[in-house]
Amino acid sequence: MDSPGLVVVGASLAGLRAVEAARLKGYTGPVTLIGAEPHLPYDRPPLSKEFLDGPEEPEPPYFRTAESLRTDLGVDLRLGAPATALDPQGRTVTVAGAPIRYEALVLATGAQARPLPGTVGMAGVHTLRGLDDARAIRSQLVPGIRMVVVGAGFIGAEIACAARRRSVAATVVEAAPAPLSRAVGADLGPVLGEVLRRHGVDLRCGGQVAELVGGDRVRAVRLADGTELPADLVVVGIGAVPATDWLVDSGLKLDAGVVCDETLCAGFEGVYAAGDVVRWFNPAFGQAMRLENWTTAAEQAAVAAHNALTPGDPRPCATVPYFWSDWNADRVQFVGLPDGEEVAFVQGGPDSGSFLALYRRGDRVIGALGLNQRRAVIRLRSAIGRGVGWDDTVAALRG
Ligand code: FAD
Ligand code: NAP
Repeated sequence: MDSPGLVVVGASLAGLRAVEAARLKGYTGPVTLIGAEPHLPYDRPPLSKEFLDGPEEPEPPYFRTAESLRTDLGVDLRLGAPATALDPQGRTVTVAGAPIRYEALVLATGAQARPLPGTVGMAGVHTLRGLDDARAIRSQLVPGIRMVVVGAGFIGAEIACAARRRSVAATVVEAAPAPLSRAVGADLGPVLGEVLRRHGVDLRCGGQVAELVGGDRVRAVRLADGTELPADLVVVGIGAVPATDWLVDSGLKLDAGVVCDETLCAGFEGVYAAGDVVRWFNPAFGQAMRLENWTTAAEQAAVAAHNALTPGDPRPCATVPYFWSDWNADRVQFVGLPDGEEVAFVQGGPDSGSFLALYRRGDRVIGALGLNQRRAVIRLRSAIGRGVGWDDTVAALRG
């Protein structure tokens, strides 16, 4: 009987990287890639950046052609139909009402944008997670309109900069006292807020959205203090939620993500997870975490594919978190964890056009934030992974 092979659910970054890793390690069995979206696997970071630029819509940032997926990777591609159930005992995934058997399974269903309650379906209001969202937003980003972004996280920061590039007025409303505080910590969130303001973004922190005004089409955003911000376009960037609804009856442990051990195993034979959907024990920091960044998703996918196909030789997934964010010509990068006991600038300062700041926990460096410090941040990623000490690193970088 034919082997049921490797099944990957989620045809985006982590799903595709899992398939590529399986083939790279010499796996020759059948591979099925299941995707809810009708599109070929594509890259998300450009969607809040260069995809929004220019008068003509760019080509979608597909990773590979359908031909390459089928011939180079030998993938049975099932797009446009979500998996709706998993039976880990019977080793099947249900798609379009029919079971698909697997020998090894990688769950890579990522995350979905969190909507602002009561606004779904209102014209002019969008979240940004996928290609269709980006197309809808870019078609409305025309000079002279007024855009309000709810949430000063990654989406808020990047889309506001993209709007400024298209001569669109951009107001960002953030509930917290500073932008990106969860990502970079409370000390440096305000520093990034000033960077955004230098790009012409009208950033309003500590602002609670009371309601969107306008009936069928949005006209304004009303804040809790009564301020009304006129808006032709509202982009909601208030976080993402892991796509686990389809797994609620599967018996898998779910806790704001698919709970996995350090090998990315979800607790059943052959079932592994990777990317934004996974909450796993990261041995690099000795704690469980769920990350929402590109580099980790790609790294986890390779480990999950290896372990799913070679359960006798499991590898731990130890990784130092890394993300970048592009704000026009400025590159913001962060490595490690932001919940340090102390933060110190080792290059430049809060008002500089280029700076590097380190985060301390005990006598270790646990994180680093850089503005236009590309190579230094990447070097610190491996240094933090090696557990470098605080005093030596601060002294060396201050030179
Ligand atoms: P996703 O990319 O979310 O893909 C999951 C896929 O699974 C989706 O295609 C979804 O439709 C599909 N799916 C969901 N449920 C099912 C189901 N039941 N059955 C079948 N398929 C299903 N990170 C950075 O580090 N730097 C950046 O600059 C950056 N920019 C970004 C810009 C945008 C606009 C967005 C949205 C994200 C950005 N990220 C960035 C984050 C990065 O893109 C994500 O961490 C990465 O996409 C995670 O990959 P993933 O494959 O785990 O999940
Ligand atoms: P995010 O980075 O989690 O930021 C959401 C922000 O909105 C937070 O600052 C949050 O504050 C705030 N917020 C939450 N509820 C709010 C409300 N009702 N009113 C006003 N502000 C509110 O999420 P995101 O920007 O929406 O991004 C979504 C996903 O895309 C994430 O997975 C992200 O990693 C990914 N993405 C990444 C990049 C990148 O890495 N460069 C770029 C774009 C998108 P609290 O933290 O206090 O809740």
